[in-house]
This record gives sequence, C-alpha cells and structure tokens, in this order.
Amino acid sequence: MRKVLSALGISDVNPGGFSGSWMGGGKAQPVLSPIDGERLATVQNVTPQEFEAILAGCHRAFASWKLVPAPKRGEVVKEIGDELRRNKAALAELVTLEMGKTLREGLGEVQEMIDICDLAVGLSRQLYGLTMPSERRMHRLQEQWHPLGVVGVITAFNFPVAVWSWNTAIALVCGDTVLWKPSSKAPLTAIACTRIAEKALRKFGFDPAICSLAIGRGSDIGDLINTDPRVALVSYTGSVPGGRHVGGLVQARFGRHILELGGNNAVIVSEKGDLDIALRSIYFGAIGTSGQRCTSTRRVIVHESIFETFKTRLLELYRQTPIGDPLEDKHLMGPLVDAGAVDTMLAAIETVKAQGGRILCGGERLPHPGGCYVTPCIAEVSGNLPIVQEETFAPVLYLMTYKTIEEAIALQNGVPQGLSSAIITNDQRESELFLSVSGSDCGIANVNTGTSGAEIGGAFGGEKETGGGRESGSDAWKAYMRRQTSALNFSGQVELAQGITLDI
Ligand code: NAD
Repeated sequence: MRKVLSALGISDVNPGGFSGSWMGGGKAQPVLSPIDGERLATVQNVTPQEFEAILAGCHRAFASWKLVPAPKRGEVVKEIGDELRRNKAALAELVTLEMGKTLREGLGEVQEMIDICDLAVGLSRQLYGLTMPSERRMHRLQEQWHPLGVVGVITAFNFPVAVWSWNTAIALVCGDTVLWKPSSKAPLTAIACTRIAEKALRKFGFDPAICSLAIGRGSDIGDLINTDPRVALVSYTGSVPGGRHVGGLVQARFGRHILELGGNNAVIVSEKGDLDIALRSIYFGAIGTSGQRCTSTRRVIVHESIFETFKTRLLELYRQTPIGDPLEDKHLMGPLVDAGAVDTMLAAIETVKAQGGRILCGGERLPHPGGCYVTPCIAEVSGNLPIVQEETFAPVLYLMTYKTIEEAIALQNGVPQGLSSAIITNDQRESELFLSVSGSDCGIANVNTGTSGAEIGGAFGGEKETGGGRESGSDAWKAYMRRQTSALNFSGQVELAQGITLDI
C-alpha cells in the first residue's frame, strides 16, 4: 500500500489545494480505507482564503491557455493520457484502496481515463463550427466555438477519477481551465491525478494552475464554486438533492451547469430474450461497484411467464457472490464506501419490508473488523413502491413482473430519475418500440446489454431528475465552449434580413 501511495506522490500528510503551488491550511482529514478501516494518509482541506487564491490562479491561467491553438492543447492531453498509461496499475489500486471497488473495476476506470484522453486529442482538431447559407446576397453566416473559462468540476466518490477525466480532457482541448472539487470520500486519488496533470503541463511549459484542485467540504468549498461568476460552467456529479441545490445556485447567477445526478435504472427481461444474457448483464449491473454506480441496475421487470425461472437462477448467482478484499481477484464484490452507506442500505431494506416488499436474499452486514461489507439483496415487489422510486445507493435489486411490453415500459419510466435502461429481447418489434419515442425515457437505452458500463464515445447523462447533462463523447464538448454566430457582408451594400427596407 505504501509503495502505491509513494509512486503517486502521496505523503503521510498532504495539502489538499493546488493552483501552481500546493497549499492546505484547513482541517486535517484522515482518509480511511473501507476495506479494513486502515488510515491511508491525511489530507488538509483548503481554507476559504486559499480557495480564493486557487480560483484566482485558475482564472488567470485561462487568459493564456485560451490563446494556445487547440491541437497544441491536445498535445498536453496526450501527455496526460500517456502518464495515466504509465501509472495505470498504481492509480487503479489507489482507487480500490480509497473507495473499495474491485481492482479489475479500478483498472477499467483508469482505462476509461486513457480512452477519453485519446478521444479529446482527436477532438482538438475537430472543434467544428458550421457555415450556413445567408438569405442576403453576398453574405455569409458562420458559427465558431470559443473557450468558455473556468470549469468547476465537482465529483462523486464512486467514479473518483474517471469523472474528472471526462470533464478535464474535453475542457482542456476546448481551451478551458479546470478547478476540481472531489468528494471528501476520495481525496487521495484527486491529489494523484492533479500531480499527473501538473507534470504534463510543466513538461510543455504551461501554467499548472490550468488544472487546479480544492479539497474541502461541499457545503463551504462547493458553495464558493456554485456562487462565483468566475466559474463559467459547473459540472456537478452527485445525488439529486445535491444537484437541485447546485443547479439552483448556478442558475441564479446565469452560470452554466452540467448536472449528472442519480439514476434508478431498470432492465426489462422479455420472454423472447436470451435468459443467459439477461442474468449475466443484470448480475454485473447490480453487484458491480457494490451497487454504487449511477448506472447500477436497481430494478428488473420480468415477463410473468419466465419470472420464476429467472428468479431461481438469479438467486443462485447471488448466493455464490464472492465478497471480500477487492484487491483480491477472486472477489467480485468489495465493501460499501463507508459505515454510513451500510446503515442507509439496511434502513432501506426495512422500508421495503414495511411497504410490502419481500426480501428474497441478502441485505446482511458481514462481520469484518473495520470493513464495510454487506451481502447483496434481492427484493420482490409489486411495481414501483415509494422506496423503489428512490435511488438507494447500495446493492439492492427489485424484481417485478409484467404482462405486456407497454406495461413494462410504463414501469420502467414510472420513476423520477431517467439515466439508464435496457431491454433483453430478440424480438425486433419490442426493441424498436423500446428505443422509440414511446419507449424508454432515459438518456441511455440499451438492447441486449445491461444498464452499466457506458463507453466514452457516446454522450453520457440522463433525463428528468438525473439532471439533463451530457458529458464525454459525441458532441458533448459543445457544453464546454461558447458559440458565436457571425454574419459577414461582402456585398458593399447594406441589406437587412427578413426583407426589411431602410429608406434614408
Ligand atoms: P453526493 O451528492 O453526496 O456528493 C457529490 C459531490 O457533491 C461531492 O463532491 C460533495 O462534496 C459535493 N457537494 C456536497 N455539497 C455541495 C454543495 N453545497 N455544493 C457543491 N458541491 C457539494 O454524492 P456521492 O454520494 O458522492 O455520489 C453518489 C451519487 O452520485 C449518486 O446519487 C449517484 O447516482 C450520483 N452519480 C451520478 C453520476 C452520473 O453521471 N449521473 C455518476 C456518478 C455518481
């Protein structure tokens, strides 16, 4: 463990702020591993005064960074990607130590960071604007995309490094600077990534404040980001109540936001689908990251004719789940992030019972000194009970039945969140209906694969209470730039649009 920490530049006590130089005179916060409760290191939060210096530095750095040609900015992102390749194993292990996901998932998370860097490097030569035909003679209409400013990136604990990289790789090629406020549950990985970005920026002679960091409580450091007009865009990943708060504050100052909030993701299992595909996709979707992915499968809507068979086979899989130290390859499920997450899960299970749901398996706290381990739970419910409509951020899976595909889609859509969804079917009419305007209302709708494990090439995000934001691939980069539309007149005369005449 010590070797991994020192390879990534983590000391016993670490300043939690960076804007060209490291600082951290605020409260000292010990970082405990959910694997066994061991203290990994200590982080010193930033004070409000230090935050002001960090934001000022990041804002100042924008003035020169925006002038660097985008393909040159891409070279820095390429270097960050290469540095991540070199540190992949160590960073993945630190992710596992700090928040408890299995090492194979940690490695996948760092791979996702490398992939988004590659995507952003290509993008740095493709920040296209359009030209449009003008309605006036000898005029041209065009649009250009310009850098926006400081992007405040506020991240959740469950993808402690990938979400930063989705935002940062794209923001950097777009000419923005980044001020990161990570989750206080995962500050060490944030320090490690900031050191990697610092090294890459210094190598090319750029101001390292382009990738700044401020670790501190959401309610103070977060609110300073939400309310400061120097932060042009706030990209917030977290819970729905958190997003409602952040979105309100940013909107009140007419800032921009990208909100990536909670999900309540369902898989419809049709009697015309492949049961093995359904079982494997749902099992990974529900227990992966111990049910702590925004895209975790939380509800399964199964055709009544195959319900008993499906249930029996899923229960067999669940009962054999290897749970334990996530650094050991034999374990498919590690701990929850902290003791509070275990309490929340157990309380939700009591509510399920009180609302008439039936617990089929799991939901027990596992005795383990210092660790936060539980058994994954399956509950049988009749439709979207009030507790089913909430995102319990833990491995609790609800099973329910349907008779018609229309009823299944209504159940799938009948929750306030709208992140990810899937259907398992070999019937083309069913899958097309699911993807049509009358189908899933989610930002992600998959066919014959589960709800989690999105690829970075697509735009990622969800509808309704998931917040409507999009990050990562496709044209999500446009949210990180400002659009300028121009009419260029080379006619030598003045001609007004819409045929309006000017008699002077
Ligand atoms: P959380 O809402 O507790 O915290 C998220 C972040 O918000 C943290 O960095 C926290 O410090 C910060 N924060 C708290 N108060 C703030 C304030 N007043 N202003 C600004 N920031 C503040 O979430 P969590 O427990 O870390 O993560 C789990 C949640 O995140 C789940 O709901 C999950 O679905 C969601 N999530 C969504 C996505 C997505 O892409 N849609 C991805 C990952 C996680």
